[in-house]
Amino acid sequence: MSKKIFIFANESDSSRLTERQLRKKLDKSGYSICQNYCEDADLMVCIGGDGTFLEAMHRFSFPPMPIIGINTGHLGLFQEISPNMLDDFIFNYSQDRYTLQKLSTVQMKVKCSDGINEHLGINEVLIRGNATYSIHLNISIDGNFIERFSGDGVLIATPAGSTAYNYSLGGSIVDPRLEVLQVTPIAPMNTTAYRSFTSSILLPSDLSLQIVPDMHDRKHTICVVNDGFSVEYDDVVEIEVGFSDVSVNLMRFENYDFWRKVKSKFL
Ligand code: NAP
Ligand code: MN
Repeated sequence: MSKKIFIFANESDSSRLTERQLRKKLDKSGYSICQNYCEDADLMVCIGGDGTFLEAMHRFSFPPMPIIGINTGHLGLFQEISPNMLDDFIFNYSQDRYTLQKLSTVQMKVKCSDGINEHLGINEVLIRGNATYSIHLNISIDGNFIERFSGDGVLIATPAGSTAYNYSLGGSIVDPRLEVLQVTPIAPMNTTAYRSFTSSILLPSDLSLQIVPDMHDRKHTICVVNDGFSVEYDDVVEIEVGFSDVSVNLMRFENYDFWRKVKSKFL
């Protein structure tokens, strides 16, 4: 039976053109193309930039099949190939010449007075106040109190997300072979009045963080953001953050090298 492929593309002209070309080529090579998303597809192709990849992962609830990204003119760290490599891609795929890179997700459980809401991030989750006030967050690591953070907020990045918002905040780029969570402060206050860590801290994958907003902050809104999707809460009791069991598998070809890619995109 021929393999089933699902294609997700953003709205840009170059993405649409790439999608049309890819459909033709896949059809010619005997693959069948799913009209709608189906969980039993053998492969998902994602055409666009990193933002499109993230959108697809959330829209389809972190799909189980391998995912290949085609970059159409954005930064594209998740995206493995460019639109001029469609033939190479189809050949390598048909020959099983690829590896799968597992991307773990970070999970945030927001406990409110009326229940728990969960949010997953491939890049990161972050907690911040509204723009007007600083927030004060009592942070524990595995149940042990570590600091009362004061500032704009904290961001918790996966290795894959280390090159995104985390990097703009002065966080470190993490080699994807390391399974660590990076906790990065957003505009920390560090004065005689307030003391917070001013650099990122790194945690092993089996530890979790507990974050309790200061009582007097409860009258303010807490904003949680996962991969750019934000939700506001008015009555947060505690937030727990750690790696989740959910992951996705990115297809990488023989010459993939993380540091070479980072060098070409950042330096
Ligand atoms: P966006 O605001 O349109 O994109 C921000 C930029 O981040 C885009 O250039 C995007 O790449 C890039 N990006 C996304 N994931 C990345 C990764 N893992 N490594 C390196 N760069 C990455 O929003 P978006 O495209 O939907 O992406 C959401 C992400 O934006 C969030 O997860 C957050 O990390 C990031 N963000 C960054 C800042 C900041 O740096 N100050 C502020 C807010 C959000 P493409 O151009 O390929 O889409
Ligand atoms: Mn974007």
